[in-house]
Amino acid sequence: DLDDIQAPVAVAITAIGRGGLSRASGLADDMFHSDGQITKRPIRALTLSALAPRPGQLLWDIGGGSGSISVEWCLAAPGARALIFEQRTQRSENINLNAAKFGLTHRMSLVIGQAPKILEAQELPDTVFIGGGASQALLDQLWQILPTGTRVVANGVTLETETLLMTAHAQHGGHLMKAEIAEVSPLGSMRGWQRARPVLQWSVTR
Ligand code: SAH
Repeated sequence: DLDDIQAPVAVAITAIGRGGLSRASGLADDMFHSDGQITKRPIRALTLSALAPRPGQLLWDIGGGSGSISVEWCLAAPGARALIFEQRTQRSENINLNAAKFGLTHRMSLVIGQAPKILEAQELPDTVFIGGGASQALLDQLWQILPTGTRVVANGVTLETETLLMTAHAQHGGHLMKAEIAEVSPLGSMRGWQRARPVLQWSVTR
């Protein structure tokens, strides 16, 4: 489905590069409107790999931030859709801008509110991403409402979320991964490694 892979004209040509928009997940951060709360490119690429998007599937993007994960989920597979849950009203503008920029307004929907409460009575997903708002209450609710076979991926950067995810892994199994990434940045007149905060990622199939 060519419609799904062609970038709309609004995307700056320099960001697209020769041959159009990259087919791989992990687009440059500056292709997305954000206030700085965005899953950075290398972690986003690893996250999309863990989410494993397939045609027609629905993602719940809990703690959607800029919506970058949902955009890449929708770009990755024809007809894939995303339901974004975000508690901060101010972020909705960036989410809407990003959906429009990539031509995905018909496949991305935003629900403003706090998880887990906001998840009640929503269309059940094939896959869930938790990028914010991870809590025991959220995991308990997900385990209550998700059918077996649903994929769940959670990223954590705080000690509190790490503890939660490590405990959940002990209880439910799945896969735990820690990504510690450094990128080069200027250091005076020379260059040095700039470490990103380590991200713990838990992936599991309900
Ligand atoms: N993956 C996002 C970044 C997520 S930052 C991106 O790539 O842009 C985490 C987000 O989770 C923040 O925007 C925060 O407002 C939101 N959040 C935190 N707790 C939440 C909750 N309980 N319900 C909904 N959103 C929540």
